[in-house]
Amino acid sequence: MADSKKNKNRCSFCGRTEDEVGFLITGLNGFICDSCATQAYEIVQEALGSGKKGSTKQLNLQELPKPVEIKQFLDQYVIGQDDAKRFLAVSVYNHYKRLLQKESGDDVEIEKSNIIMVGSTGTGKTLLARTIAKLLNVPFTIVDATVLTEAGYVGEDIESILTRLLQVADYNVAEAERGIVFIDEIDKIARKGDNPSITRDVSGEGVQQGLLKLLEGSVVNVPPQGGRKHPEQKMIPVNTKNILFICGGAFDGIEKKIAQRLNTHVVGYNSVRNAATIDRNNLMQYIAPQDLKAFGLIPEIIGRLPVLTYLNPLDRNALRAILTEPKNSIIKQYVKLFEMDGVKLDFEDAVFEYIVDKAIEYKLGARGLRSIVETIMMDAMFEIPSEHKDHFVVTLDYARHQLEKANMARLQNA
Ligand code: ADP
Repeated sequence: MADSKKNKNRCSFCGRTEDEVGFLITGLNGFICDSCATQAYEIVQEALGSGKKGSTKQLNLQELPKPVEIKQFLDQYVIGQDDAKRFLAVSVYNHYKRLLQKESGDDVEIEKSNIIMVGSTGTGKTLLARTIAKLLNVPFTIVDATVLTEAGYVGEDIESILTRLLQVADYNVAEAERGIVFIDEIDKIARKGDNPSITRDVSGEGVQQGLLKLLEGSVVNVPPQGGRKHPEQKMIPVNTKNILFICGGAFDGIEKKIAQRLNTHVVGYNSVRNAATIDRNNLMQYIAPQDLKAFGLIPEIIGRLPVLTYLNPLDRNALRAILTEPKNSIIKQYVKLFEMDGVKLDFEDAVFEYIVDKAIEYKLGARGLRSIVETIMMDAMFEIPSEHKDHFVVTLDYARHQLEKANMARLQNA
């Protein structure tokens, strides 16, 4: 009995025999059992994780991606929007520099430059933020401004913006204090109109005042679980001085404010552009801080968001490119889905044009591309895995037929 145990293979880490473990993995000169492998994996994860979460000292400007490289990275996933990409790239790079320069201890202090990105819904603001997050060496989170209300009202306290950042940083405060927060839908906390309100404006001006505190850089008490603060909850003080804030919003209707301003300017003596050179189809490119004020952001907030950039509306060419060009484009995702069933998926070029036409027709923008492709491909995805085909071509007739068959009203409401 003892002999038979002797001859058995053992885990080289814990010494247990084959029978005593789930299974043994054989290496060149030894074995590892399932539970030691799991433990080893956890140790590796922890080591890598803490490496990534190291202190500011571990940032090395030479090793960090340069603005041009950051933009090149964004180009792989986001079509167009060059202006916003450049601004983002520079801001992130400067953010790193600021974190590093803090250590050098000379008198010149680089102040942070929070960013605000303005662009219609579905033009890629969140996509830009998510994409840049992939190459950041600091904690990053995306929060939504719509849930915020002034303290004392139903909704979330402004400080809860930082809860997510703390969570991403595993509650390492020093780490969170050098992170980046993307605040989406910042326009939803604009006050209704250009004038300070006389009545209470629960989700507008009061929230902006609260947000100002975060943007300016101060020590705020963050509820570790988010939501609303309550007395029993222990707060975590977080200094926002070095946290970079990137804000994004659709600012629906801001073009009107831009147009108004441009009209008054073109007749003014100090006109830089004359009426003939103004591209009326894309007024967003002329956006200026006073337009944000006209929309209802308070001047103090605008002052704390010194970098203002815009996203272009997506035209036909952009939509067409979005369909196939990004690294993880919708079409590439479908090709991969079919490939996993051993099926080569091809599309006739005309199908792409058709999809774009429909997205424009239904005013669905880039978000609609996916629902249209989904509708076209649904039957094929249902049937093909059991059909033992190795090739499937989506023709224009097929696409048209599938889309017409589907309930268009449903799509239009999407
Ligand atoms: P926003 O935040 O501006 O409302 P999103 O970034 O959420 O818009 O975009 C919605 C979807 O549309 C994205 O997930 C992406 O698939 C697509 N999309 C939008 N703009 C672009 C773009 N410029 N390049 C590539 N895809 C885009």
